[in-house]
Amino acid sequence: MLKEYTCIACPRGCGLEASIEDGKLLTVEGAFCAKGGKFVEQELYSPLRNIATSVLVLNGCCPLASVRLTKPVPKAMIFPVIEEIRRTRLTAPVSAGQVAIADVLGLGCDVIVTRKVPAAS
Ligand code: SF4
Repeated sequence: MLKEYTCIACPRGCGLEASIEDGKLLTVEGAFCAKGGKFVEQELYSPLRNIATSVLVLNGCCPLASVRLTKPVPKAMIFPVIEEIRRTRLTAPVSAGQVAIADVLGLGCDVIVTRKVPAAS
């Protein structure tokens, strides 16, 4: 079976064609560098994703602060992590780099704030 991917390891975005048999990766064509093959392996056997979203802020000059994960998590955990972020409330002032959720769902990564939110005056 042939399966197409777009490598997202760098902005070049190589179009990759992977040959897969019985769930095993045989070959990868179209990669400009070796990272393309590693990207397909990761996608096939253990896909990871990062999240950039927002968390609610109480008593702030705006109601949301942008957040992201400190490292990618398994693709299957994206929605549980988003749900955990939705349940979280921070209280202003909130600073960039502040940990909003430490070790979210025991995945070994933190949810951190990427934009400060001063307290409402
Ligand atoms: S295969 Fe290499 S050059 Fe192509 S997008 Fe991936 S990292 Fe970039």
